[in-house]
Amino acid sequence: MSVLAGKVVAITGASSGIGEATGRLLAARGAAVVLGARREDRLDALVKEIRAGGGRAIACVTDVTRRADLDRLVRRAVEEFGQLDVLVSNAGIAKLGPVADVDVEGWSAMIDVNVRGVLHGIAAALPVFRRQGRGHLVTTVSTAGLKIVPSQAVYAGTKNAVRTILEALRQESTDGVLRTTSVSPGFVRTELADSIDDPGERERIRRRVEEFALDPAAVARAIGFAIEQPDDVEIGDITIRPAVQN
Ligand code: NDP
Repeated sequence: MSVLAGKVVAITGASSGIGEATGRLLAARGAAVVLGARREDRLDALVKEIRAGGGRAIACVTDVTRRADLDRLVRRAVEEFGQLDVLVSNAGIAKLGPVADVDVEGWSAMIDVNVRGVLHGIAAALPVFRRQGRGHLVTTVSTAGLKIVPSQAVYAGTKNAVRTILEALRQESTDGVLRTTSVSPGFVRTELADSIDDPGERERIRRRVEEFALDPAAVARAIGFAIEQPDDVEIGDITIRPAVQN
């Protein structure tokens, strides 16, 4: 029997890219998955696919910028499957561009989705994890936060804010109830470039993704690896990038 059989995993940003691939992989390995994002049609299509393969999945329309939506995502997991073992806070956007462009709207949008969205997930999941006596928070951060390059300042900042929050949470939670994992992917072939408003930056990233990028399933396997560990083993950080990425 798969080690994930019996685990319940909620995933934000599950309508495309890394979140979609993670939902598909974890369900195939026996987990019940609760898929959150704003595009309901995409979530429904994935639920249908997983159920057709004998897996367990439900969709829950979720905008991570709204705290009540995360409360509902967590509640739906518990109502439908009796518990929540893991929350994968994966939803994210990348409004890349030089700081000097002063894209205040883009900065705010990234802070709302990439940081506030993760905090909303933590706020929703922690009480359930405490009640259960166990729980696991996984976030998708980025190598952009590890190797600082121009045009990614605020995006990288949001990812490093999340990494910092998770590390502090880890140190505050040594009673064995909570595990935390930050997964830092390099270039991955997803729809993320579509969220870039600056046309030059969007094309630059698209070209790099065409040149070399991981399949989202590779990141899903890394997330699966962290989740599959026994309860007393915590994989804190995973960096995963194309072998040719500098
Ligand atoms: P995608 O654009 O394919 O996926 C992003 C997901 O986030 C979508 O499911 C989207 O769903 C969801 N999302 C966006 N805004 C919101 C919101 N307000 N509420 C809920 N969901 C939202 O890109 P990726 O799969 O690449 O991105 C997943 C994560 O991986 C992101 O955090 C990204 O920063 C990170 N990452 C990606 C890398 C890459 O090269 N692709 C590299 C490093 C990190 P919907 O629009 O339906 O709401």
